[in-house]
Amino acid sequence: MGTDTMTRPAVLILLGPPGAGKGTQARMLEESFGFVQLSTGDLLRAAVAEGTEAGAKARAVMEAGGLVPDDIVIDILRDRMAAPDTRRGIILDGFPRTDAQARALDDLLSEQGAQVTAAISLEVDDAAMIDRVAGRYTCAGCGEGYHDTFKTPAVAGVCDRCGGTEFKRRADDNAETVGARLRAYHAETAPLIAYYDSRGVLARVDAMGAIAEIAAALATVVRRVSD
Ligand code: ADP
Ligand code: ZN
Repeated sequence: MGTDTMTRPAVLILLGPPGAGKGTQARMLEESFGFVQLSTGDLLRAAVAEGTEAGAKARAVMEAGGLVPDDIVIDILRDRMAAPDTRRGIILDGFPRTDAQARALDDLLSEQGAQVTAAISLEVDDAAMIDRVAGRYTCAGCGEGYHDTFKTPAVAGVCDRCGGTEFKRRADDNAETVGARLRAYHAETAPLIAYYDSRGVLARVDAMGAIAEIAAALATVVRRVSD
């Protein structure tokens, strides 16, 4: 990889509050475009599960719905971006979430001669996010996302994608914590929409519709920015 093409890999950012569907849509973009999803939430949960030093520091903050300190998140992302699979193009899901993270990302990319291709804001009504997040769960086997009301498996208790029968819910996906996560989003992350707009790389996608409709709208944006 790398030498056979002159085109730079796409760097896509998905912006939106918890419940906007960043993870669901990032996984669909992985499948349809061959990009790699980088979720700082997933990376942090893995660090917590492994009991690393970073994980130990992050755990309580995550359970309370706050933002993990920038230096921890930036280190974790930098390590992940060093892996060769990221050269196919990346979809950042849950990063950057603060101004300092956005600037750290710019620096990291410029070291690699790259830059942000597009920041896509998933536009949703906050009020609907509480129900979306409080009802969601994933397949323990393959990570496919489900929801008690909005996206149930075709056969109850069996994953559509891998046939697995074990599912898990995140410790922070409850109505109380979602409120704190929404406040953190509006205070720290929403201002990044204007930051990327001023750089001419912002796209907005209505994310209140059906998952497949949102995916189609996103694919249109990705095709437009990646030729
Ligand atoms: P969601 O966006 O649905 O809230 P994530 O899985 O992206 O879920 O993040 C879960 C939690 O992990 C956040 O509430 C926060 O505590 C922490 N986290 C994830 N990404 C970041 C980040 N870029 N900066 C700070 N904290 C983060
Ligand atoms: Zn599965």
